[in-house]
Amino acid sequence: MDHSAHFQFFGRLQNLLVRPHQAGDVLYTFTEYPAVKDAIEALGIPHTEVAALAINGTSVSFAYPLQHTDRVEVYPHAWPLTLASLVSLTPPLPDPPRFILDVHLGKLARRLRMLGFDCLYRNDYEDAEIVEIACRDDRIVLTRDRGLLKRKRVVWGCLLDGDRFPEQLRELEARYGLLADISPLGRCPNCNGLLQPVAKGEILERLEPKTRLYYDAFRRCIDCAQIYWEGTHAEKILDWVRGLCAARMLEK
Ligand SMILES: [Zn+2]
Repeated sequence: MDHSAHFQFFGRLQNLLVRPHQAGDVLYTFTEYPAVKDAIEALGIPHTEVAALAINGTSVSFAYPLQHTDRVEVYPHAWPLTLASLVSLTPPLPDPPRFILDVHLGKLARRLRMLGFDCLYRNDYEDAEIVEIACRDDRIVLTRDRGLLKRKRVVWGCLLDGDRFPEQLRELEARYGLLADISPLGRCPNCNGLLQPVAKGEILERLEPKTRLYYDAFRRCIDCAQIYWEGTHAEKILDWVRGLCAARMLEK
């Protein structure tokens, strides 16, 4: 006999449902007693996007076996209400947040590194490799691919909606409060190595005449020795950050 349970999805989770449902309201039918996590993922939402779950008003884990007539409330991360009384489904995040990015997010990786975030990235990672490294190093997986985040072993992940940097930065700020941890020109966009201040005199022969003339503060990657300075490398990124900070101030 078919069973059914009623799901209520909140916030951005409503937009992630594979088939649109009025205001995130879904009647889900099932035969056995699936784990509530499997039901949610069958409806299109990776477990990484769910912060907390309540069934018939009580907090439950992902393993809870769904029962006929259950009423399930599914909450996204950064949801302001109710959550205080619910148990979080994910362990505390790595602090400061560190990431591994899917193969299609090369630009985002470079820009997050310039803001000082530890970001592993290669354009030839296999999905299994990303999961393996994320588990080994306690990293947050960033991707636009739901399938990757539905993999069982992924603990922390973020499904990005936007395909442009300002939107992606806004999403990451909303989820992880990134603005608090920004360190401009903190890491090398090419290799993720840390950047350290270097005296101008030490690198003079490596600078173009105009750079030598107009800039005095330089940083060097401790891994690949590439030289960076604020004028050209960080200015645009910092403009975006300032834009986001200003938007935050207006919201408050
Ligand atoms: Zn480097």
